[in-house]
Amino acid sequence: MPEIRDCIVLHGPDLAPHRCTRFAWEHDTITAIDLAGPCLRIDNGALVVIPGLTNGHTHMGDSFLPDGATGLTLEEGFFRPHGYKYRELAKLTREAHLPHITAHLAYMARTGTVRHLDFREQGAYGAALLREASELTGVQSVILGQFDGVPFTAEELRANQADLPAANRAELDAMLSIADGFSESTMNDLTDGAWREIREVTERCGKLRAIHCLENAAYRDTSLAVTGRGDLVRAIEVYDAHLIVHLTVATSDEIALLVRSGKTGVINPRANANLGLPLPPVAALLHAGAKLLLGTDNGLLNSPSMLAELDFTYKIAKSQFANALDPDPAAILKLATSNVRGVLGGDVYGWLETGLPADFVVLDFNRRHLRASRHAVASVLTRVTPDDVLATYRQGRALWRDPRFLS
Ligand SMILES: [Zn+2]
Repeated sequence: MPEIRDCIVLHGPDLAPHRCTRFAWEHDTITAIDLAGPCLRIDNGALVVIPGLTNGHTHMGDSFLPDGATGLTLEEGFFRPHGYKYRELAKLTREAHLPHITAHLAYMARTGTVRHLDFREQGAYGAALLREASELTGVQSVILGQFDGVPFTAEELRANQADLPAANRAELDAMLSIADGFSESTMNDLTDGAWREIREVTERCGKLRAIHCLENAAYRDTSLAVTGRGDLVRAIEVYDAHLIVHLTVATSDEIALLVRSGKTGVINPRANANLGLPLPPVAALLHAGAKLLLGTDNGLLNSPSMLAELDFTYKIAKSQFANALDPDPAAILKLATSNVRGVLGGDVYGWLETGLPADFVVLDFNRRHLRASRHAVASVLTRVTPDDVLATYRQGRALWRDPRFLS
């Protein structure tokens, strides 16, 4: 039975750091975590075992264009039908595309991520492509498929009367036979009738629903102009989305609405910053008790490293709280770990306990820049680099293992 002796484990859903005399797993399950008391500081190095990270929002389909949108606005780079991303995707063969996605999933594993929730363009074909990359790398892809084409004309969207065309209805069924759920760019891309139909179909087959909301003020303004209601209200009341991504320009009323709805928000601070948008209201969302995940968004915009995203998010949250105490570092790490349980359930926990799936990461706190950490959880957020990740396991399978780590 593989095991790690005398390490530090961030234990349970609260990620409480403890000394651990023996951390063991067999096949896909953690079989022992022998705790020996709480331990926040490290005096002379240790291996630190943390839950495998979840990247709450990605578009790995455009990872073949790193930094390709430099100099483009959100609309120029990413909006349908003629945004840069969609033009470039349409040119790519399957053979040329797959290695890029696989390489970026492997980089996720290299940086401690065991799963990601992906908005996948290109319909059923796109979902199948990502499924293949997921199987090749062992990184779990929760695939939220998007229609390959735009179902409605601008006039139809303005009238907001049309139902989902039969061709898209068939495409939805084909997509959901592969994907874990549905996603679309914005609430303004479909009519309310289509949203209701997608809600019913996904509900019937137990699939997830996700959407970008409030990435900038135009999302809300366009929705208000067409339907008399903002995009967040429609995402909750018409579409009944499980995942609401961005919330960059959410007001206090909108944050309160999100919290009342019990839906999970996904923030992407580096992506927002990279597009010259405001930073999301991380402190206000945390303070209001919103359910939250954290994501790196487009492969075009960011490396899919949650280590970089956690560092950035912790710092902007501290700045927004504007005091020395908030947030607790563990509250930020939960955005990439134990908070995922509420969305995915099943055999996904996002924390470490005996009997749970062996989804964990081994960090080398024996290295000089980590071996005297006064706060192990804060150091996971702010100081651990990809090079400090010794191994990443999902369900007992090593997705990444440094030759230095011989367990
Ligand atoms: Zn996105």
